[in-house]
Amino acid sequence: MLCRFLSTLLIILLFHVPTGFAARSLLPATELTDVRWASHVDSDTGNQKVRLVVDVTGNVDIDSKVDEKPVPRIVVNIKGADIGKINTNVPVDGAIVDKVKFHKTGSGSTQMVIELPKMIKGQDYRVFTLKSNPEANKPFRVVVDVHNSKTKLMALVADKENLPQKYSLVKNSSRQLTKFIWANHIDIANGDEKLRMVLESTDTVKVDSTVSVVPFPRLIVNIKGADLGNIQKTLELDSNVADKVEFFQRGDKWVQMIIDLPVLVNSSDYKVFTLPSNAAAGRPFRVVADIKKPKPLPFQFKPGLKNKLIVIDPGHGGVDPGAIGPANTKEKTVTLQVAKEVQALLEKAGAKVIMTREKDTEVASAEANDAQELGARTAIANSQKTDLFISIHANAFTRRAAGGTSTYYFPKSAYDILLARNLQAGMLAEAGLSDRGVHQARFYVIKRTIMPAALVELAFISNPEEEKLLNTPSFQKKLAQGIFQGIESFFAQVTRLGGDS
Ligand SMILES: [Zn+2]
Repeated sequence: MLCRFLSTLLIILLFHVPTGFAARSLLPATELTDVRWASHVDSDTGNQKVRLVVDVTGNVDIDSKVDEKPVPRIVVNIKGADIGKINTNVPVDGAIVDKVKFHKTGSGSTQMVIELPKMIKGQDYRVFTLKSNPEANKPFRVVVDVHNSKTKLMALVADKENLPQKYSLVKNSSRQLTKFIWANHIDIANGDEKLRMVLESTDTVKVDSTVSVVPFPRLIVNIKGADLGNIQKTLELDSNVADKVEFFQRGDKWVQMIIDLPVLVNSSDYKVFTLPSNAAAGRPFRVVADIKKPKPLPFQFKPGLKNKLIVIDPGHGGVDPGAIGPANTKEKTVTLQVAKEVQALLEKAGAKVIMTREKDTEVASAEANDAQELGARTAIANSQKTDLFISIHANAFTRRAAGGTSTYYFPKSAYDILLARNLQAGMLAEAGLSDRGVHQARFYVIKRTIMPAALVELAFISNPEEEKLLNTPSFQKKLAQGIFQGIESFFAQVTRLGGDS
């Protein structure tokens, strides 16, 4: 199952399938199972948009309308589903959508009320459904997009006309942050690629910053002397240098800016400073954070497995069982068993192995969201000079006859596809299941690791015969032997190719 391996944080936010979806969909009653939201910038129009996604265990009918009273809102009637156990009061960004509430309107019908800070026109929102896609482990979904045509990418500020009345009245008398801007640029002096973030303030503030590793790499900036004001609280970036920025009011005149990073940065890789206001140039007081794009590690492979540092990532674990087979085999159990066999083979050959988990547990924590869980796995590999990262999974599909072995890579370097091809060839040669091929994919762990990486789907746990094989120790050994051979032949090949990326 690949639900934990979607490519971007945004996609993860939008389409994360709650653990146990496969099991839940077998229940007779159709119900809502999850609600989540993300804000992003439409790449075509530059408009800011909030997308709300509601997961449903079966198909439903919907209709919607806009109401001005008692508060501006979009009312979506979901016909054919009970409210289930989802959160019935969800605060959203406050800029485009205030909050979402759910209530039961009858047996098998639920109303979703989306409260807005101001009235919108019909063309500023869209409600639609998405069919379930069991292969991608996605349930049936109700999606609501709400646009804010006035908020543009590089000026994610409430400009005067967007400000609520009470806010503009106090604007001049209170110290607050007023605008956040970001841009990628190349430093002309040294050619470094950088992300620059600028936060404007009505007054002087003091800043300090730290980097944290757990649950995943982040830069935390404390801004003291101003309140949050009306800037957007969550902002998805382009993931070139950083994934996301979030602002939190931590106390009186104390705001924290948290920047999620795909890769840990050194203290020399970032700088946080302030710039004074310049009335003549019309510039306010500013907080600036610069982060350098980390350079990919140069890989110089020597022949053989001796002293190679290899990360093996058994998929899922703890609260997340992964896919569940017809005889109730959990993906998390099988992936760990095969991973341990691979570990034993590699260590015997003189390689060093780091396991992202060695027990039935989460790598981040039981409370972590998918991005944090996956970020913890990639952080283990990215925080040291690792040669390879291999994530082990089992596939699942509604059609039980579906079966076979496949391997995925993301082309960060010329090595990724080579690794994937070798792993696939090794597993086919040793375990002999049908060949579903080597494919490019944007799964989190293979995209966000900085060393060559691949994700293997050993077999289909949803196929009763393959489920039985996946549970058999001798077959697990064959799969492990195949992965081991793939790793060995990969190193033999890259060494001949010269070994440097
Ligand atoms: Zn999986």
